[in-house]
Amino acid sequence: MKLEQWFKNNTWDDYFAKFEEKCKGRYEEIFDRCGGSLMIESLNTGGNSPKPVGCPNHHGKTNSNYVAKVKFKGVSRPFNDYAIGCCNTCGTKSGIFHLRWLRGDSKMKETLNAIRIGMGWSWGYILDEPLLDKEMTAKEREAFLLKENTRKELAEQQRRQREEEAKKKDLQRANFIQAKNRELFDTCLPLNHPNSLPAVKYFLSRGIDVLTMPELTRHIRFSPGYEVFASGVKYDGLYMSIVSKIINGAGELLYWHRIVIDEHGNKMKPHTVVNNEKVFGPSKIKGSAIPGLDNSNRGIKPFKPFLVQGVSEGLEVALSVRYMTGLPVDSATDAVSMENWLPQDGVKVVLIFEDYDRPNDQHPNDGGRGAAAGENLCEKLLEKGILPIRLSPPFEIPQNSKSVDWNDVIANFGSHELPKSVKEWKQLEEDIAQLELFDINALNYLNDKYEFNIA
Ligand SMILES: [Zn+2]
Repeated sequence: MKLEQWFKNNTWDDYFAKFEEKCKGRYEEIFDRCGGSLMIESLNTGGNSPKPVGCPNHHGKTNSNYVAKVKFKGVSRPFNDYAIGCCNTCGTKSGIFHLRWLRGDSKMKETLNAIRIGMGWSWGYILDEPLLDKEMTAKEREAFLLKENTRKELAEQQRRQREEEAKKKDLQRANFIQAKNRELFDTCLPLNHPNSLPAVKYFLSRGIDVLTMPELTRHIRFSPGYEVFASGVKYDGLYMSIVSKIINGAGELLYWHRIVIDEHGNKMKPHTVVNNEKVFGPSKIKGSAIPGLDNSNRGIKPFKPFLVQGVSEGLEVALSVRYMTGLPVDSATDAVSMENWLPQDGVKVVLIFEDYDRPNDQHPNDGGRGAAAGENLCEKLLEKGILPIRLSPPFEIPQNSKSVDWNDVIANFGSHELPKSVKEWKQLEEDIAQLELFDINALNYLNDKYEFNIA
């Protein structure tokens, strides 16, 4: 039997389905042998939490954005079965389509041929049709299947071994990070402690009186002195910092967020000397994530919402809106985390306090990365039946700045420029509580009353 004859009774879809069936459970071997070893590099360096490698699309210019996935949206997705890979810019790819993209094949046929040849598979094996392998005797076919099964088992064994080792490494790493976290937290004081004045001043200079918010104490504190270690650099001496806990949806600590400040409450950069030259680090730093925890829906989350909740990137935005209006606002702390964020269960309306960034190559639209994060979060919430209201700060980006945020607006104009939906969020929440149905009529009513400006 020839392949052309097989196609008389089968479609391309049948063919592709058979191919996929054979690849499932073999993707690690396939990527390794058929031009996808970059993903294997990502898998091998990290085990249960693969490490990013350079995305082939960016010619290795950026080095931290393409990574193999063994979990997807919180669900276990072994690479061997799903072959999921994700680049922050190119998006998520899976299975044979992923390999095709990685190899840069213009036609699927090229990718499938590469798999068939690379894996040493016969047409009869792939399509479960011995008649296609007429050059093979029954005995040879039996031997081939036996060899194939042994290979499969061996690869499976190696995978299990690697996962075991990765688990051990993860545990060691988790213990180390937790010990370091405890060291830092042991230095921390509540914001209302007399020695925490630098932190109080930092927020006061941004129009926020944190002493009126005792609920912060379990989430945000002040460290009068602790070492700073960031991106592999250890900076000289000890630094004062505002320390916030970044937790996941289940309330587990993932890592900390620190703002390095001086005794007057001014932001400062940690410094050290490398090769006789003074080098400065970032004033805002994050700790290493504890391995093995679900890091979706992460953020600084000091407040308990009911039906209406806000979210921002920056901590200062969250606290200034809270201070001005009492609205519970989470700080996701960065754009990617904003896209991963979710409101607390039961929340019906989310007010998204977007940053307004200068557009760049990767985010060329108005509002840049900040607006893109707001838009992506908005789409995700709509899918979940939650009403998102995007709020962009009504403020020009100053010439020497890259962005503005809602804290800039509030620090300059107080609550005056806040939208009606924010200023009257309590009434909005009461109105929602009274609704029998959260349907289109209700939406139109709220849209008019609170000026959501939803088209
Ligand atoms: Zn890419």
